[in-house]
Amino acid sequence: MQWRVIAETMARLEATTRRLEQQAILGALFRQVPPDQIDRVIYLCQGQLAPPWVNIEFGLSERLLPRAIAQAAGVPEAQVVALYKQQGDLGLVAEEVLRGPGAGLTLAEVYARLQEIAAARGAGAISRKVSLLADLLSRLSGLEARYVVRIVQGRLRLGVGDATIMDALAEAFGGKEARPVIERAYTLRADLGLVGRLLATQGVEAVRQIGPEPGTPVLPALAERLPSAEEIIRKVGTVAAEPKYDGLRLQVHRDGERIWLFSRRLEDLSETFPEIVRAVRRQVRARRAIFDGEALAYNPETGEFFPFQITVTRRRKYRIQEMEERYPLRLFAFDLLLADGTDYTPRPFRERRAALEALIARDPDDTIQVTEQIVTADPRALERFFLAMVERGLEGIVAKRPDAPYHAGARNFNWIKLKRSYTGRLSETVDVVIVGYLLGRGKRAQLGIGSLIGAVYDPENNRFRTVAKIGSGLSEEEWRELRRLLDEIRVPVKPPYVDAQIAADVWVEPRYVVEVLADEITRSPLHTCGKRNEEPGYSLRFPRVVRIRFDRRPEDATTEAEILRLYEQQQTVPERA
Ligand code: ATP
Repeated sequence: MQWRVIAETMARLEATTRRLEQQAILGALFRQVPPDQIDRVIYLCQGQLAPPWVNIEFGLSERLLPRAIAQAAGVPEAQVVALYKQQGDLGLVAEEVLRGPGAGLTLAEVYARLQEIAAARGAGAISRKVSLLADLLSRLSGLEARYVVRIVQGRLRLGVGDATIMDALAEAFGGKEARPVIERAYTLRADLGLVGRLLATQGVEAVRQIGPEPGTPVLPALAERLPSAEEIIRKVGTVAAEPKYDGLRLQVHRDGERIWLFSRRLEDLSETFPEIVRAVRRQVRARRAIFDGEALAYNPETGEFFPFQITVTRRRKYRIQEMEERYPLRLFAFDLLLADGTDYTPRPFRERRAALEALIARDPDDTIQVTEQIVTADPRALERFFLAMVERGLEGIVAKRPDAPYHAGARNFNWIKLKRSYTGRLSETVDVVIVGYLLGRGKRAQLGIGSLIGAVYDPENNRFRTVAKIGSGLSEEEWRELRRLLDEIRVPVKPPYVDAQIAADVWVEPRYVVEVLADEITRSPLHTCGKRNEEPGYSLRFPRVVRIRFDRRPEDATTEAEILRLYEQQQTVPERA
């Protein structure tokens, strides 16, 4: 398969935001690709060379890319830099200056070269990367180069979501019945390339057999919310309730001596928390296992836990040992997905929990512990447990259905969180994606950001819709830092998958999620969340940033539907003390 076909397909995908059209375009491509190369095509459409959770970096900065483009085109670097300043899109700049017809490179050749660029390490790596890229670009046509440059820059942004890729796979191989089979497999083995390749080479039955496998993350199960213990019991009956720890979710994988830790966003953090890795070796009584837990920093002197703001400082790439000594972690294990030969995901929670208790050995340090739990059908007992946890400084509780399977990737009432309320009518915080900012005036302008434009997610249509302008909650230094982060991902025009009526001073690629506390949800003509036709939308009143959630992907933000539900709840639930 020629790279030209991939580039042309990417151009067509980019030109539409309609899911059905994207699905048809991708489906046609999938049918054309040699089945054993379909995984590469899927990764490339996601803008990478491997599943998003594999740490692959090209290591070519914004400064070096123009150099490679200039070398390939035989024009002065200054010209490329000037065009980039004007247009804000290096892909288009490359297309403009590279005038050759291309040498007809294949997908396999381009992919192999991109791998080579990413793999170059050690002395002289940077100049080697530049010349490898320049050589590749010199053999591509302008359109072909457009997408190579964007991939290397980490800015492909085709606007094709996982769901659309799965729709297209189903369309290409196996039809409607295949769709749920594909989705199930993907939630248990979060590698769309692997699932796609298996489907294309061995058919739908092979995909049906997929289960969790150490080394590949499972999409985490998530919790719904209800406002009181009473409503939880009314909805579920008997529950197994656990403390809700406010730390970092970690999915622990073990295959013999190899151990992986994945974040809620499926980032590979195996190198980040060495004390957890060591504890897994000591405490896990299985050669192969996958389990779920929440990690918290604690004070080794007093044994008390630190708040989330401290725990999160452990998420860094440097000075790992120093941080470990300062803020060691404990891991509270709360669910089991795999142990030796058994896939526990279809088993009832009751059984998973018993197996988890048997899996985790006690140890003098007790770095890994199984969470506390009560089982009850009494709303008063549940309320007491909740209050006791709040008194201990925890966020609240998670009440779980004892007979439910582990539903990977789903947010449903198998798990229900009950959190302590804040002042104001809206007791829950919401997670919004930053899609742009306004500069503001006076003192605010000096901080670099007047207000952030926050959006919620509409997964049905793959759209981000605005719900708030947020101008408080961070320190001066944090505002400046955020401005710096946002300027790295600024885009020249509003991306087509952002639905907004506000005119931002600067639009950014939706990447950063912030947790926001607000007093209530009100109707608003300004925002597009929940807005249909001429009706007003919904917005957050008095929003302030609680924290930046680097552990969230944009698609993990609060959904538009959740905002509508919170609005309804707010209308019906009396204020809690
Ligand atoms: P929030 O923003 O309220 O923390 P969330 O969006 O991170 O919620 P939810 O699905 O709403 O995720 O709540 C579940 C989260 O709570 C899990 O992802 C996990 O990180 C955390 N958690 C803490 N203790 C537990 C527990 N005992 N069982 C399950 N999840 C727990």
